[in-house]
Amino acid sequence: MPWCDACSEYRSPNSLGGDGTCATCGTFVAAHEDVAVEARAVGESAPWHFWIVVVALAAYLLWRLIDGIAWLLG
Ligand SMILES: [Zn+2]
Repeated sequence: MPWCDACSEYRSPNSLGGDGTCATCGTFVAAHEDVAVEARAVGESAPWHFWIVVVALAAYLLWRLIDGIAWLLG
């Protein structure tokens, strides 16, 4: 993740300008190519079984929602 020396904070790739400058102070933080590579690496870091967990969690929460509505209606 790009580090901004002037702000002493990490900057998410989305908060950087298109030219790799910090959106807060305008200091050059990272080359745009580096940011794009880093963002792509984050997207590929989620393994396939992660999405199974996400789907299972969504199904569980949906079931709890339906169960809760049924409880409210008596
Ligand atoms: Zn900054």
